[in-house]
Amino acid sequence: MSNKRKLSREDARRVLGRSLEAEPVLVGVMGTYEMWVKGQVMFGVPVIREEYPAELKTALERRRRAMLSGQCDCGARLRVVRQGTQIDHAAGCIASDASLDAIAARHGGRSVRLPDDAFSDPWET
Ligand SMILES: [Zn+2]
Repeated sequence: MSNKRKLSREDARRVLGRSLEAEPVLVGVMGTYEMWVKGQVMFGVPVIREEYPAELKTALERRRRAMLSGQCDCGARLRVVRQGTQIDHAAGCIASDASLDAIAARHGGRSVRLPDDAFSDPWET
């Protein structure tokens, strides 16, 4: 057998970059998150529940669309980071982390966002 080398960061970036072009596929639901796979990248998007306040639904719908399509209405694009994928929403975008936190605070709930919306780490074996 050939020696198994770790994926270099550059290789990983290329693989992830290609993955972002792939069609998203729903693989399952974990708690309040739907797990999706895009190429070799897995990420979670929040499930939108009926009882959520309207503004939270709006924010989450936009966030989901951004994750699944690779681009948000605010212009932010899904990009590859060490932890997997990330979208840096514009300040003031309703789907931004700050906005989701603010909405949660207004409604007395915990923010539903994950620290980042991805779980894959191609540099770990
Ligand atoms: Zn945005």
